[in-house]
Amino acid sequence: MTRRTKLVCTIGPASVGRAAELVAAGMDVARVNFSHGSRSDHARAFQAVARAALEAGRAVAILADLSGPKIRLGPLADGAVTLEAGRPFVLRAATRDAGGTNDPGNRGHSDATAAWTTYPGLAADLRPGDRVLLADGAAELRVEHADEATGQVVTEVARGGTIRSRAGVNVPSERFSGAAVTDKDRRDLPAALELGADLVAQSFVRRAEDVEDLRRLLPSDRRVRVMAKIETRRAIDDFDRILGAVDAIMVARGDLGVEIPYEEVPIVQKDLVRRAVAARVPVVVATQMLESMTTAPRPTRAEASDVANAVLDGVDGILLSAETAVGAYPVEAAGAAARICVIAEALEGDRVEARPPSVGSVARTDSVPDAVAYAAVALARQDASVTAICCSTRSGRTAETLAVLRPPVPVLAFSSDAAVLRSLALRRGVVPLAIESPLDPAAPIAWMKARLLASRLVPAGSSCVFVGSTGETGSPPNVLQVERIAPPDDTKGAAMADT
Ligand code: PEP
Repeated sequence: MTRRTKLVCTIGPASVGRAAELVAAGMDVARVNFSHGSRSDHARAFQAVARAALEAGRAVAILADLSGPKIRLGPLADGAVTLEAGRPFVLRAATRDAGGTNDPGNRGHSDATAAWTTYPGLAADLRPGDRVLLADGAAELRVEHADEATGQVVTEVARGGTIRSRAGVNVPSERFSGAAVTDKDRRDLPAALELGADLVAQSFVRRAEDVEDLRRLLPSDRRVRVMAKIETRRAIDDFDRILGAVDAIMVARGDLGVEIPYEEVPIVQKDLVRRAVAARVPVVVATQMLESMTTAPRPTRAEASDVANAVLDGVDGILLSAETAVGAYPVEAAGAAARICVIAEALEGDRVEARPPSVGSVARTDSVPDAVAYAAVALARQDASVTAICCSTRSGRTAETLAVLRPPVPVLAFSSDAAVLRSLALRRGVVPLAIESPLDPAAPIAWMKARLLASRLVPAGSSCVFVGSTGETGSPPNVLQVERIAPPDDTKGAAMADT
């Protein structure tokens, strides 16, 4: 059975040498996290994935995940300290010459009473009563006094806990006034593009304008897609505008669950996924999906349910982080995620059916290609013998138009452009298939049918819905044909195809 939900795997020390195994296990998109590792680590990851994909003949996209304005503590005296509830703790803003957010920069005294941070604007942004979380919420501080002149933020430890050097510092996103794209991002982005990134993930997006700031740095001669990581309260509040500005969404539950109470994460996740699917923007759910597999060869039942529920909600992809980056069972984790997806998809049925935009009760489509796509998906829904929808796609648009309608069968998308095929890797239900050269516009459907027969991509005797065009190569789809996939001498098949 073809899996429709896509698998995004983070490449790290545990998997960089096992990229071929991850591709074999089902990896569709490889994520390289620029918050960790050196430039040569990133280059090694990109090269390993590109080589493995080429050898397997699969279109595997690479997602470069930029750090964004994550505030961190500087080095602590003994590497880690334990904060005690009720005691004072001073956070120090980075000095301006330290290089800004994400540069460690600051040396000096850091211990259980005070620590430097990487953010110069800290004291200017915070107000008495604000909550600051350290180390993914391991410890919580309550601001008592912030002095911009000295850069000192005096707090009381509201909840004690152990924090380590370079631990994350989460301030309320509505307070944070730092730049959306940091100096580090400006150095990492050209490197990622040079290495061949297909998508760029932007961390700590707050508003649609943040996405525009990043887009201005992208090349004009190449389509690089932007994925906004939703992990701040402000991004939740501006989600509709962000949907209009991005190419994809990541529900980044790690930092999201620090910024908002963890109790709210499940409903916020469902709401964001529902709205992204309705807006036809690809969406992936990330973080701790199979967390226990960092140390165990099998997931917990709760984790299996978490993956399956995301599939039933209609996500385009599931993202594995530590499981594949640093875990003891990276390939097993990818395989487990893939199998859970396939089984959940069998149950999914019509639950995530995307409907045409409607005016009152009257279905309305925007264009001929849209109408053709709706008709193709409706046919696939009604006719149980239909096992795939097939199209050739030059820009990827035809396949995308079909995928957003969430058909119950795979969309087999033929293209001669490797970048277009990789751009489809994250789309739910799309199987990108490479061809040598653009299809002859006079006979694309006949050609696709022959290819399906030869390659056994669909079961012989089943039917396929072909979406094509009577215009020149690359012109939008305007015809639809249902064909039984059977050898030419199969008289029953031929008779059906004539009807
Ligand atoms: C997250 O916070 O959930 C996330 C995916 O981002 P990162 O791994 O960069 O912290």
